[in-house]
Amino acid sequence: MKIICIGRNYADHAKEMHAPLPKSPLFFLKPDSSLLPKKTPFYYPEFTQNLHYECEIVVRINKLGKNISPKFASTYYTEIGLGIDFTARDLQEECKAKGLPWERAKAFDGSAVISERFISKQELNLEKLDFHLLKNDEIVQQGNTKDFIFSIDTIISYVSQYMTLKIGDLIFTGTPAGVGPVQIGDTLQGFIGEEEMYKLQIK
Ligand code: MG
Repeated sequence: MKIICIGRNYADHAKEMHAPLPKSPLFFLKPDSSLLPKKTPFYYPEFTQNLHYECEIVVRINKLGKNISPKFASTYYTEIGLGIDFTARDLQEECKAKGLPWERAKAFDGSAVISERFISKQELNLEKLDFHLLKNDEIVQQGNTKDFIFSIDTIISYVSQYMTLKIGDLIFTGTPAGVGPVQIGDTLQGFIGEEEMYKLQIK
């Protein structure tokens, strides 16, 4: 299983990162070891002083595919979840400045959090899906899939030109504006619409 993460898929987040808008989907990988196991606490990693949350809609692939055309991409997933792409922002800045890969900043153990529940896409309007993240009961991120630069189907088609998508692969679709730091003791709660998808305390 692999985890594919899309970068800069919302214009407002690209702006807050002072980064240009991508012309094609920008993606990177997290290994399966980055997935925070169910019912496991999240511990603040010792190697960062600036851990950021990035709340993201997550797609689970349920069919093997390569070179998938955009027109058939929607047949490769049936369920949508919500996740956090935890990022050691200080390490990421260091890697960016040196032109190095991002894995130390993005692919560490526990850096990929996903909701236990995934919702059938039939129950959702994927063209216009609201989601938000609370930090200690205050809204810090609000997103809507209508603001995607690249749709889920475009992402699936694009990524599958380079790598085979397998059953169980996850796609983190990018984060809206409002990313920020967490501290030990903070609580993060992610919602799709009004439904709570996860609640996580930083230990
Ligand atoms: Mg992200």
